[in-house]
Amino acid sequence: MGTGLDKETLELTMDAIREFAEAKLPAAKLLELDARDEFPEQIVRGMCGAELGVQLLFIPEEFDGMGGGAFDVYRVCEEMARIDLGVATGVLATFLGCDPLVYGGTHEQKKKWLGRIANEGLLMAYGATEPEAGSDLAALRTTAAAVIRDGEVVGYKINGAKQWISNGGVADLYSVLALAPGGPSWFIVEAGAPGFTHGKPEDKHGIRASNTAALSFNDVYVDADRLVGGEEGKGLIQAQLVFGYTRLMVAAFGLGVGWAALDRAIPYSTGRIQGGSPLSEKQGYTHKLIVPHAVRLEASRAYIEETAERLDSGEGTLNTEGAIAKYLASEAGNGAADAAIQALGGYGYTREYMVEKIKRDARITTIYEGTSEIMEMTICRDRWQVHLKTQGRHYHEQARPMEGLHERHPHVGAGVAALALHGLAEILETARVHRLTRHQHILFRLGELIAVAEGSAGLAARAARAAEGTLNPKAPTRFPAGALAAFSRIYAREAVAKVASEGMRWIGGALGGSEITELEKRLGMPAVHQSQAGLIPDMDHAADVLYDRART
Ligand SMILES: Cc1cc2nc3c(=O)[nH]c(=O)nc-3n(C[C@H](O)[C@H](O)[C@H](O)COP(=O)(O)OP(=O)(O)OC[C@H]3O[C@@H](n4cnc5c(N)ncnc54)[C@H](O)[C@@H]3O)c2cc1C
Repeated sequence: MGTGLDKETLELTMDAIREFAEAKLPAAKLLELDARDEFPEQIVRGMCGAELGVQLLFIPEEFDGMGGGAFDVYRVCEEMARIDLGVATGVLATFLGCDPLVYGGTHEQKKKWLGRIANEGLLMAYGATEPEAGSDLAALRTTAAAVIRDGEVVGYKINGAKQWISNGGVADLYSVLALAPGGPSWFIVEAGAPGFTHGKPEDKHGIRASNTAALSFNDVYVDADRLVGGEEGKGLIQAQLVFGYTRLMVAAFGLGVGWAALDRAIPYSTGRIQGGSPLSEKQGYTHKLIVPHAVRLEASRAYIEETAERLDSGEGTLNTEGAIAKYLASEAGNGAADAAIQALGGYGYTREYMVEKIKRDARITTIYEGTSEIMEMTICRDRWQVHLKTQGRHYHEQARPMEGLHERHPHVGAGVAALALHGLAEILETARVHRLTRHQHILFRLGELIAVAEGSAGLAARAARAAEGTLNPKAPTRFPAGALAAFSRIYAREAVAKVASEGMRWIGGALGGSEITELEKRLGMPAVHQSQAGLIPDMDHAADVLYDRART
């Protein structure tokens, strides 16, 4: 992936998406699609075709695309999710479907298929999940038997089933993961191939404007040149290659859908009078239902942006960072959407108000492209290895740049983020000494603590860059540096409190006794408690920013 679009092209693309949505997808239409459980095929084809051309974003320039980078894709995915996550999923499915080709295809395959997607606006689907193989993709049962003529493999016969495939009933092209003689491999299958059928659209909880269907393969023949990369057995590696990137897209969805919810709750609460004054002026309301969610969303944005920049600079696949970004943003998006229903009270609970739909839509982001639990496992397993390799120094070392940052920018929460990282190092070390990751629950909970602690460092770094005026020029500018600093101080306090209290809880739950007293000392609990000083004034300030009442 290259460095991507220039700022003006990205902004023009996003303006075009907004204008298209304003014209074709007004709120009443979105609610109607949801109620009727209808996929707006012509609109999605317009978005991925001549009318708007969103698909060009992720197709390299040499294959007639625009060659957008990860940062561009994050901005566009967030924007689409703000409009409607179901429609965004229809577009994302083409992004995902292409990925095995983009990252694993031969030059000829890319030229043929990516060129057609760019120029003809073909819709794609990504067929990995099966009825018996969801989180554990390696358990797949769909087979691709080699068809041999004169001693040469001329094609494959695909047999099996796929489950929960976005665009499954409407795509023109499918990338399908199947077990070839040499191992799991991706194949390109065209709609209408004999023996290839799909089920009826699933009646889903949310993203009802997306099409999700099961696929069935009964002796579906494809020529050998449909084997992605031309070599069998590379499928799971090719799937792994794109996880950093694809999880970043779903992270951007979490961010977009979460802000879509808050941006409805905030104006609602300024107009809604209860007890003689607007809800927006009640601290018990704003500091529970608005502020913490905005802060968590912006922490996840910081992590998304850092990961996108690293992907664009060619730093490798960044699977774990993609997992952290997805985990933080999808959980934050869900939390924000849930809070928005509460923020609108009885109105929020009715289908007439968009937040009710947004909440159902948001839920999918913690399930598809790897569930939150699988993210927790991925994050902890990877960082655990780093902890072992560095003999427990990793997170202490990660804390040091934060301490340096704190000296240069004392107001961005970096000192507290450093405290969270040091605490994390102590908890991981205690877990190592007592071999506690043999408890799967502890492993997963550590995954959460790692994500939150790294998230706090990410937001502090972003707030410092905002203060220095060195943020990525393509980053949104909604919040000034002072506001980001306040958000970061709030999030860092949440992170350190969580690392310390949850860490103690789970480690204590497994050990009890004197080890806990020892860990309590090593965590420096008095400092953790002291770090909470100033939280309420910072939340007051954050509320003022979110409600446009702030002076700075
Ligand atoms: C609307 C929708 C659209 C989708 N679109 C696509 C698509 O386009 N292409 C595609 O290939 N797939 C798609 N999926 C599938 C999606 O990626 C899977 O549903 C997801 O990966 C989870 O798999 P599963 O449903 O089989 O659940 P399972 O893997 O059976 O998981 C069920 C629960 O168990 C937990 N769990 C699983 N394994 C473990 C473990 N080892 N330890 C602890 N807990 C565990 C999970 O976190 C989850 O909470 C879509 C799904 C939906 C609902």
